[in-house]
Amino acid sequence: MKSERTTGFATLAVHAGQEPDPTTGAIMTPVFLTSTYVQAAPSKTKGYDYSRTHNPTRTALEHNLAALEGGRYGLGFASGMAAIHCVLNLLQSGDHVIAGNDLYGGTYRLLRTLYQKFGLETTFVDLTDTEQLEGAFRENTRLVMLETPTNPLLRCCDLRAIAKICKRRGVLSMADNTFATPFLQQPLALGCDIVAHSTTKYLGGHSDVVGGALVVNEPDLLKKLAHFQNSCGGTPGPMDCFLVLRGTKTLHIRMQRHCENALAVAKWLEKHPRVERVIYPGLPSHPNHALAKKQMRAGGGMVSVELKASVAQAKKVCSSFQVFSLAESLGGVESLVDHPASMTHASIPAEERRRTGLQDGLIRLSVGIEDVGDLIADLDRALQKAR
Ligand SMILES: *Cc1c(COP(=O)(O)O)cnc(C)c1O
Repeated sequence: MKSERTTGFATLAVHAGQEPDPTTGAIMTPVFLTSTYVQAAPSKTKGYDYSRTHNPTRTALEHNLAALEGGRYGLGFASGMAAIHCVLNLLQSGDHVIAGNDLYGGTYRLLRTLYQKFGLETTFVDLTDTEQLEGAFRENTRLVMLETPTNPLLRCCDLRAIAKICKRRGVLSMADNTFATPFLQQPLALGCDIVAHSTTKYLGGHSDVVGGALVVNEPDLLKKLAHFQNSCGGTPGPMDCFLVLRGTKTLHIRMQRHCENALAVAKWLEKHPRVERVIYPGLPSHPNHALAKKQMRAGGGMVSVELKASVAQAKKVCSSFQVFSLAESLGGVESLVDHPASMTHASIPAEERRRTGLQDGLIRLSVGIEDVGDLIADLDRALQKAR
């Protein structure tokens, strides 16, 4: 639900979904730590009966996230995986899914180790190539799942083109917008049916909460997804909702700084003698740069770097930072470094990793909002270990 006041992104980020508490005037949405709600007579409620189904703190967050994505309806979840799981519940045995071939590892695992055994078939394709997508459709294809930019190779696929292909065939499209955030791109406006998020990352923004969300425009889709949200129960607690709501208030200014810092870091790395290749959608050297410029407001906060280094050296580099912290996850205010081949993407077999272009010497940076001079000095120090 959009705030009545305005539709500007920054104003929505601060205000959408949140009115001062009517009983006290508290300007911040209270954390409604309650499981149940007193009814005036059987089934006579004030809109809330049980907190798995609805909770006012969650309602505020759901409205806020819907407004930021330029959508009508938001749904909150306990994690990004719970949100994506909810989308898969729309399908049934015998249905076919087309998914990107460098999808988030958890999504890949969900499709492979859970839904496959229930008779859901998935084809993984390179979605940066719409011809590959066209060729993968079957009579029973019901859903296309995409991410852009992808992780960790930061490939970008054409949201508008993919949404159009799906619409023409009557197939649902779901865009995981975790890496870009609605500040940089809004998949619903480009024609996608469902936007998914891990709010754990940029939306929460402070590495202090795990959460997920879906945003849709179609009332029918909302009804089905809300039914599964309530049936499966992967809903967030009110404190988690409060933390994500606090995060989204500064999303626009954090993203501006993440993008500025990431671009500066990427440009600096591109000139470094120990660097083989810098992957950043905001650099003209990125293979999808033209598309990224068209569909994203800026290049994002993630930078991947192929080092001229052995695996051992790459690991040593990762352990030598003072400002960057070595950790999985991304999107917080603090800078993080990850070695995908041994950390986030270790569960993908080595040949499979290399086939998709993920080299063992690649490191992934989640560039934070610290002073960019300190980040570059830290990189300079750590890269000494690559010789
Ligand atoms: C982290 C992440 C997820 C999973 O979210 P959780 O909150 O960890 O469950 C899904 N998609 C992408 C792109 C992610 O980065």
